[in-house]
Amino acid sequence: MRMTRRQSILAGASLPFAAGAASTLATPAAAAGHGGALPTHRDFTLGDFRVTTLLAGSRSVPEPQGIFGMNVSTEEFAEVSAQNFVPTDAAQFFFTPTVVNTGSEVILFDTGLDAGGMTNALSAAGYAAEDITHVVITHMHGDHIGGLTNEAGEATFANAAYVTGQAEFDFWAGAENEGFEAKVRPLADKMTFIGDGGSVRSGITGMAAFGHTPGHMAYMLESGGRQMLLMADTANHYVWSLAYPDWEVRFDADKAAAAGTRRTLLGMAAADQVAVIGYHMPFPGAGFVEARGSDGFHFVPVSYQFM
Ligand SMILES: [Zn+2]
Repeated sequence: MRMTRRQSILAGASLPFAAGAASTLATPAAAAGHGGALPTHRDFTLGDFRVTTLLAGSRSVPEPQGIFGMNVSTEEFAEVSAQNFVPTDAAQFFFTPTVVNTGSEVILFDTGLDAGGMTNALSAAGYAAEDITHVVITHMHGDHIGGLTNEAGEATFANAAYVTGQAEFDFWAGAENEGFEAKVRPLADKMTFIGDGGSVRSGITGMAAFGHTPGHMAYMLESGGRQMLLMADTANHYVWSLAYPDWEVRFDADKAAAAGTRRTLLGMAAADQVAVIGYHMPFPGAGFVEARGSDGFHFVPVSYQFM
């Protein structure tokens, strides 16, 4: 079959796009659960920092009211969901570590569910595991510490130092927790510990965001006069947790403290128009927060503000 000249131009023109798209698609391991339909990294320019969100995994979870809005009626949950165009029979979960390249350090915040998903997403963004100089752990749930080591227990990031919150480490160190003992304890002598206001590096400041876990921390990034707030698991669904900070979340250890932290951090982001990156927000995980109604917030995904 012969193509006309016009057909061949069209066919050729589509190739670079296809090739470019393929290079950013998830590898099979990283794509598990989301069919490879999403890219696995997104770059943001924040002053002198290159900030990259990494999709280390994604999956569909059935019956989300077993996790979100546990203290409201089925009817209210359904009504709010319908108003916001999200289904109630399943929710898509995203697991989104972030790399901050300061020019002299490559700092990874959280490590996904496992080492494979983590390193696949890193390499798609142009980083090898050996490039990581620091790993910051926001809190010690399995979906944040899982990528610290592989199945053989070997450290994923051979050249990294580790930073985490003192209160968070102390809590889990006394909790006889399997995940902590397997993933965190073996690295403890390479860790430094910080508290509220502590600095990881110039322009990267820890903020107490307790509630989700006893020592959960957020991090403010600042470079070139611009800010981004890595809010980790402060709010875990872009509708249910933002519009209704008091809706209880199964994974929040202290539900009242977690709701208070949502109000404080989301209120600050809204007032100061600071972009947030949320570990479980829909990929690429970044957006702005708008105060809406008497006591809630609305998530506005990023467009081109950091290109
Ligand atoms: Zn999480």
